Amino acid sequence: MAKVTEKSLKARCTELNLGPLRTTTFGIRATRTGKGYTVDLQYRDATPPQILLEGGTAAEAAATVEGAAFGAAAVKVAGGDKPEFATRDTFLRQAGERCPRCSTKDIGLGHLSFVKGVITQPCSCQRCSLSWNNLFKLDDYELAVSIDPSAM
Ligand SMILES: [Zn+2]
Repeated sequence: MAKVTEKSLKARCTELNLGPLRTTTFGIRATRTGKGYTVDLQYRDATPPQILLEGGTAAEAAATVEGAAFGAAAVKVAGGDKPEFATRDTFLRQAGERCPRCSTKDIGLGHLSFVKGVITQPCSCQRCSLSWNNLFKLDDYELAVSIDPSAM
C-alpha cells in the first residue's frame, strides 16, 4: 500500500466528493491537526459535521475515508430510489424550513388547523413532491402588557 500523506488524503477526499459522493447529502473531509488526523462528514445543509475519527494516524484516516465512501455507495445501491428522511432532531434544528427528504427550502405551506393546542400544517416539497404535516404544540402564554410611561 502506498504511504498515506496529508496531501494524498486530501486528494482522495476531493476525488470522492466530486465522484461517488457528489449526489449524497454530505462530503468528506480529512484534516491534519496537532493531535493527528481528523475525518468528518460535511453536510450540504445546516446539519453540523459528523466527526468519524479524531487524532488518528494517516493510515487510520485513510481507512475511515474509504469506509465512509464505501458505506455511502452501498446505501445508494441498496436504497435504490427509496427516500431517506431527516431525523426529527435534524428537522427541528432546521426549524422546519427544509424538506425532510431532499432538504430544499422550496416548500409549499398549507393552511393551519387548530385542534386542542396542536396546530397541523400540511406541507409539500416543490422539488421532490413529498407531502408531510408540520406539527406545532402550544407552548406557553404571555400577557399582552403595554406599559404606560406616564403611570410610572
Ligand atoms: Zn423534497
